Formats: sequence, structure tokens, C-alpha cells
Amino acid sequence: MSATQYDADLLIIGAGPAGLSAAQYGARANLTTVVLERMAPGGQALNIETLENYPGNTARGDAPPRSGFDFAGDLHKQAESFGARFIMEGTAAVVRGADGTFTAVLDGGKRLRSPALILSTGTEQRRLGVPGEAEFYGRGVSYCASCDGPFFRDKRILVVGGGDSACDEAQYLSRLTGRVLLVHRKGMFRAQKSLAERVLANPRIETRFNTELREIRGESKTARVLLEGPRPGPSGQAGPPERYEEAMDAVFIFVGSTPQTSPVRDLGLKLDGAGYVITDQTMASSVPGLFAAGDVRSGPFRQVVVAAGEGAVAAHCAAAYIDAFRGVSYH
Ligand code: NAP
Repeated sequence: MSATQYDADLLIIGAGPAGLSAAQYGARANLTTVVLERMAPGGQALNIETLENYPGNTARGDAPPRSGFDFAGDLHKQAESFGARFIMEGTAAVVRGADGTFTAVLDGGKRLRSPALILSTGTEQRRLGVPGEAEFYGRGVSYCASCDGPFFRDKRILVVGGGDSACDEAQYLSRLTGRVLLVHRKGMFRAQKSLAERVLANPRIETRFNTELREIRGESKTARVLLEGPRPGPSGQAGPPERYEEAMDAVFIFVGSTPQTSPVRDLGLKLDGAGYVITDQTMASSVPGLFAAGDVRSGPFRQVVVAAGEGAVAAHCAAAYIDAFRGVSYH
């Protein structure tokens, strides 16, 4: 079989750091590589104000490490410079033919066929499911601090969650206002120690542990929240758990994420208990020819550097798979 029988040797769904890295490695391996992305190249990395934990992305003189936005822009340009092609459209579904090839059906109906596919669709932010959350979404309720934070300069902001995202985003928001309240349902943060310690030492962030958001209230926009937990008294001493209302202009929710596997839902992929794609160390999923990389993959640590590394491994191993699929041998 020759490459010309396919629309691409390698299709990549999702252009976050994993997909962009896979695109570069795929194109450099001389594969015709097409990346499908429904939003903008960069994925969640676009929201990182300072990408301070990517190896080598350090401060230079007075300039801080590059932002996730700039970093993703460079990854995109780099992948294009090696010949990867980008189609900015969502993928409604992926179908696997009897011959083992994949056909991606785009939202507009266009179909693209390839012998191998990398799923790098990442995750989307989980909803908390409290009353008022859906009603006030876009009117004080947000899941993206860098997108919506600037609307609430010097206002009262509630951040919900105890992981890396909540701590990172609370830090970012504290530069816009000195009135950030961070609530977490447990007695300590789940976040990496360095992030957690920075939040606890930040005088512009008040942290209340063992506290949950029960409801978001207001008329035309967010105005108050109903919290449940030990209420701080005037002396700062926390009292017994109770439900109490507090004035609030905005609520930023970071309570984890859900893997985006809907385009491949009918392929019978093996997923872990939380719905992430299980792969082996070559990033191969349980479906031959389908690889997964980045946040959508079942793994212990979701970071830009991990996603970029997994994208490179996935493209490298997809190239070997494509050779074997075509009967190419090096002996
Ligand atoms: P996460 O690590 O899953 O943390 C979610 C947090 O939300 C947890 O503290 C959890 O509480 C809380 N939560 C979940 N459901 C809740 C509910 N119904 N009510 C109240 N609280 C609830 O998610 P994440 O912070 O979005 O991070 C996702 C991944 O990205 C992680 O692997 C993280 O390391 C990575 N990440 C890294 C960075 C960085 O390196 N700077 C930045 C952002 C994200 P419990 O602790 O009680 O479970």
C-alpha cells in the first residue's frame, strides 16, 4: 500500500502540547501528518500565565519564563515548519474500518482516512453541580482564571478546589485582587507542596479548609455564595461547621477534569475507572493503530512536559506501526 491511498499517514486529534509535539515528530519522520483541533492550538497550556516548571523554560534577566500561550505558539509554528498540516475543526467521531484504518468524521461532515491515529484531546473542567453554577456561568461563574479573572479586578473572588489548578489559579487571581477566598473540602491541599506552600504564604489569599460551596446566589449575576464549614469568627478562630452566606462577585471552580474521549467512544477502547485511555509504554491503546498521549491518557502526572514527551513517543511508535502495517521491513 502507498501513502497516497490515505488522506494522511498519521491523524492527530487535539493540538495541546501532546498533539503539537506528536505533530512535529510525525512530520519529521516523513509522515504526512494532519492535526485536527476544534479550538486553538495549545489546549489548556494557553491558560498558563508563566510556564515555570517546563525544563529549560527559565527566567532570563528580568524576563519571566515564557507563558503557556507563547510556548504553545512556538510549538505550533515548529510543527508546521516540519510540514504538519492543521485543520481547525472538531472531530465528531472516529470509525475503524475492517482493513484496520481509521476515518475521522469532522463536524462539517468531511472524512479523513489514515492507518494510524493519535488521540491527544486532553480533558475538560469538571462541573461542581451546585445550584446556581449553570445559571450564573458567564455571569460570575468561570472555569478559566486567565480568561475571566481580569473582569473581577479588586472584587471578591471565590476559588473552589484543592489541586494544582485551584492553587495555581488562586495565585494568578491574587494578582488582580487582594480579596481571594480559596475553599477546599479537605483539611489539606492535594496540590504539589511548592504550590500549596505559596498559596498558604500569600497574604492576598484567605484559605478555608473543610469548607464546601453549596450554592451560588444572585439576581442577574453572582452576588453571594452559600458555604458550609467551620465559619471564621471575628478573632480568626474557626467555629463549628455551619452553613453561612457570604457576599461574592465571582466563583472560579477547579475541581478536576474529565477526559475527552467522545470521538472514539464507539471503538471499544480500554479505559481506566475514571475514563482515561489505558496505553502501554509505546502509548498504544487497546485498539491497534490508535495511540493516546497527554492528559487524556491514564497516567500519574499531568504536566506539559509529560504531555510533550508522550506525544513524541506516540508519534515515534505510530511511525513504526505504520511501517509494519504497510509491510515495510528494514532487513
Ligand atoms: P485534581 O488534581 O484532580 O484536583 C481536583 C481538586 O478538586 C481536588 O482537591 C478535589 O478534592 C477537589 N474536588 C473534586 N471534586 C470536588 C467536589 N465535588 N467538591 C469539592 N471539591 C472537589 O485536578 P486539577 O487541580 O485540575 O489538576 C489536574 C491535573 O493537572 C493534575 O494531574 C495536576 O497535577 C495537573 N496540573 C498541574 C499544574 C502544575 O504543575 N502547575 C497546574 C494545573 C494542573 P480532593 O482533594 O478532596 O479529592
